Amino acid sequence: MSTVTTAAALILARLRPGVAGETRREVHLFPQDSCTALCGATFPTSDLERLDGFHGMPCVRCLARAPGGRGLAIR
Ligand SMILES: [Zn+2]
Repeated sequence: MSTVTTAAALILARLRPGVAGETRREVHLFPQDSCTALCGATFPTSDLERLDGFHGMPCVRCLARAPGGRGLAIR
C-alpha cells in the first residue's frame, strides 16, 4: 500500500472574494477532504472557493510540494 498522495487526489481552491485581499488569494492545492493545503496553510472550508483550474496566482509552496510534476493531473 502506497502512502504517496497522487496528483489526481488534489483539489484547487483559494480564499473567497472579500475574505482576504487579492494578494492573499493564491490558488492552493488540497488533498481530498482536507482544509490544510500542501504548503501547510489551513483555512475554514466556508472561506474557500473550489476551482476547476489555476485562475490567478498559484501558491508556489504548494506547487513545490505537489507530487508528479510534469503531467500533473489536478481536478
Ligand atoms: Zn499553498
